[in-house]
Amino acid sequence: MSLSYPDTSLFINGKWRSASSNEWSNVINPATEEIVGKFAVAQTTDLDEALDAANLAYKTWKKVAPFARYKIMRAAAELLRQRADNVARIMTIEQGKPIAEAKGETLLGADTIDWFAEEGRRAYGRIIPSQIQNVNQIVIKEPVGPVAAFSPWNFPINQAVRKISGAIAAGCSIILKGPEDTPASCAELVKVFSDAGVPEGVINLVYGVPSDISNYLIPHPFIKKISFTGSTVVGKKLASLAAEHMKLSTMELGGHAPAIVFNDADLSSALDVLTAQKFRNAGQVCVAPTRFLIQDELYDQFVDGYVELSKNVKLGNGLDVDTTMGPLAHDRRLAAVEELVKNAVDLGATIRSGGQRVGNVGYFYPPTVMTDVPISSRIMNEEPFGPIIPISSFSSIDEVLTEANRLPYGLSAYAYTSSSEIADRVGQEIESGIIGINHHGQPAIETPFGGIQDSGHGKENGVEGLESYMHSKLISHKTTA
Ligand code: NAD
Repeated sequence: MSLSYPDTSLFINGKWRSASSNEWSNVINPATEEIVGKFAVAQTTDLDEALDAANLAYKTWKKVAPFARYKIMRAAAELLRQRADNVARIMTIEQGKPIAEAKGETLLGADTIDWFAEEGRRAYGRIIPSQIQNVNQIVIKEPVGPVAAFSPWNFPINQAVRKISGAIAAGCSIILKGPEDTPASCAELVKVFSDAGVPEGVINLVYGVPSDISNYLIPHPFIKKISFTGSTVVGKKLASLAAEHMKLSTMELGGHAPAIVFNDADLSSALDVLTAQKFRNAGQVCVAPTRFLIQDELYDQFVDGYVELSKNVKLGNGLDVDTTMGPLAHDRRLAAVEELVKNAVDLGATIRSGGQRVGNVGYFYPPTVMTDVPISSRIMNEEPFGPIIPISSFSSIDEVLTEANRLPYGLSAYAYTSSSEIADRVGQEIESGIIGINHHGQPAIETPFGGIQDSGHGKENGVEGLESYMHSKLISHKTTA
């Protein structure tokens, strides 16, 4: 398989170009630690051009009929499907995930574009009967205006496509700051929109120093809405900047998902799902299970079963078709995972598998099962974002629901039980945006995705995802009749 990898330019006002300063930064392949390419580093003058372009394009794009937008977006989705093999190869080179996962993500990206294209045609308003005679109260949906969006490296297509598709289906323009660690596959996504006929200025793509870009774009008067996916720490900073300037915001932040297995669960099914979902993208998934809470009767079997299934993981370069788990995406992640494991061990945790970096080249870290992990350890409190698995036991449902709700996060939670009574309590009492019972409940495009509390606010996907790019405007009209 060819290793050719494209450099990534900025895309501003319909043109691919270098930054005004011609500054570039390197992209590293996490499996080999080689520099594979570079991306353009935007300066303030580039951002000004993107802002002008987005502002101008918005004035016409908002008036384009939803059916016309739909046709362009459907064409973009088709192009992405046609190019999926190449896009997946690029993504694996820069991000590390197995090629099959990268292709699946790309195809899901195409389905996401289709969903928003279709839903954009159904952005209905309503007529509300008035208390006053001869008054028509009409509620219409209007796009909010130019959007500034920030998407991360763990899913270079999937995190970006929700923002771009939601925004343009609603009639907004967008400036996306893509992920600097994984710029080229995100740029391929933007290319399909432009090749399909999205007018110049409607979608703009920039890269650079993240804080410089967000500090410049968020307060800018042209920008009406912010959408960010990333860590809670950064999300809080951007949300407060947005609030200071009275901007709408959608924040998809970190989580720390409890995965609860009750004594009456189907153990083998729970093990299959909780291993597969943990090792996907090497655990760098905001909705990955992260706190494993197993009821006492099943605890030993679960730990043994998890260690056994972890041995099936084939760690390697994602371009090899046999690989089932790639490296961590960058050296920061490797260092973070090593620190979390060390901290847990220092506080008394027992390593049941893994626990050490694999090799000296590439950011490979194996599935690492840990027991006896104190609740005070960092891994029980901070989002792990890696293939590390702390397993604890519990005896009663009240105890485990308290643990599930202990942290300020609230993105996703999982439970396995054959009791409908327990399932009901889990569904009702766990404070989380997404709850999967007896399966991962992987959110589909049709369903709202997003967390509460420190996991953020607002939804992507589902009708809520489109709504988040629109205002409801009331027109109250007294007729002469
Ligand atoms: P990070 O918080 O520095 O970066 C996360 C993302 O936010 C990156 O894409 C980065 O470019 C962007 N970012 C950082 N600072 C920014 C700023 N001031 N303005 C705009 N964008 C900014 O950390 P990281 O090392 O890349 O990842 C660490 C943690 O981030 C992970 O442990 C995980 O908790 C979280 N994360 C979450 C998701 C998610 O899907 N919710 C995705 C990636 C990372």
